[in-house]
Amino acid sequence: MNAFNYRERQLYAEDCKVSDIVAEVGTPLYIYSRETLERHFRVFDQALNGLEHIICFSVKSNSNLAVLRLFANLGGGADIVSGGELFRCLKAGMDPGRIVFSGVGKTTDEIRYALASGILMFNVESEMELDRIQEVASAMGKVAPISFRVNPDINPKTHPYISTGLKKNKFGVEVDRAVALYKKAARMNAIRILGIDCHIGSQLTTLSPFEETVLKLREIVEELQEEGIPIRWIDLGGGLGITYRDEAPPSPEAYADTVRRAASGMTQGFIFEPGRVMAGNAGILVTRVLYVKRGPVKTFIIVDAGMNDMVRPSLYDAYQEIRPVVETDRKIMADVVGPICESGDFLAKEREVPDAEPGDLLSVMSAGAYGFTMASNYNSRPRPAEVLVNGNEFFVIRARETFEDLVRGERIPPWLS
Ligand SMILES: *Cc1c(COP(=O)(O)O)cnc(C)c1O
Repeated sequence: MNAFNYRERQLYAEDCKVSDIVAEVGTPLYIYSRETLERHFRVFDQALNGLEHIICFSVKSNSNLAVLRLFANLGGGADIVSGGELFRCLKAGMDPGRIVFSGVGKTTDEIRYALASGILMFNVESEMELDRIQEVASAMGKVAPISFRVNPDINPKTHPYISTGLKKNKFGVEVDRAVALYKKAARMNAIRILGIDCHIGSQLTTLSPFEETVLKLREIVEELQEEGIPIRWIDLGGGLGITYRDEAPPSPEAYADTVRRAASGMTQGFIFEPGRVMAGNAGILVTRVLYVKRGPVKTFIIVDAGMNDMVRPSLYDAYQEIRPVVETDRKIMADVVGPICESGDFLAKEREVPDAEPGDLLSVMSAGAYGFTMASNYNSRPRPAEVLVNGNEFFVIRARETFEDLVRGERIPPWLS
């Protein structure tokens, strides 16, 4: 399933010994496997065989330039949610014609930048955004390709913070208003209707919400067809889940079969925006044990990675498996916590984890998506380094931040001298 396995009790990333990488690069450290990223892309791509499609990797899940280049080399595009992500994609050499722009709060500058770059389309999330895009495109003498992100009011049955397709969520336009908005857009001179879009949530482990989504979009596409508004691309978003613990998410093949069945007879091309399923299990976060605090009610293993380096456990109460870098059979009930001054700063809570001593290395598994990209400098901690492994070689694809990086851009006004 992934490239992180033990050989003679030592954890390897592909053919690199994790402890050797750490000896050179230090901790905390994100390590990604090229082989795994590529395999995840190819499996998804091949599952969609027979359906015209573009795989637009969700940049917010892992936005390192090297990762974006890797997917671009495989023919992938990108789903972006900010101007910064567009900048990264272009820098990584990605074809702008394979980039879609999602997000409820696109600024005028971001719209201008995306238009100038020639992206495939804007996934428009409100009527006001449509008006804004028309205005900006018109002023630039350009025509903006768009789709509407429809909110189908479908429960993805996942964590509330990563549910996005319910009526009460801020995302997309209401299904009932979609056709009226398409008709309005069709009359705008700087707007070209290209698609319809949807993204109902993340870490989905069942197929029925996806199926419902396709059927809902299909109804709208057929209605638009009757109104003389043809749709070229159907964007189904991302959201396919992965195994963190004991989840049994559908395979890309099962997912593709569901789409194929629900969309049978349709002539549109399909866009997919997978993030987690591409990158999640292709990465780990390695951290070193600083102290072990054996208290009256609890044992705390204090490590050098905190919620600023990996926020998923704190933010979503997410389970991330923790493995020792040197295999041990000894287990202990403990909290694995970071150095941050917050009680919410933990990587594992009240769980059986590898018994560890100060100096030992632990690996937080399934850390390749929403790991580094959600890292911050809270507590003035430099963000971790990132390494990409390729067989028996590895490359530092992002240097560890320095203290100077922490204060870059900060200035003391002269009247404080
Ligand atoms: C986050 C996001 C994705 C990716 O979701 P995954 O669950 O990582 O596949 C795709 N599309 C949009 C619009 C998103 O916001």
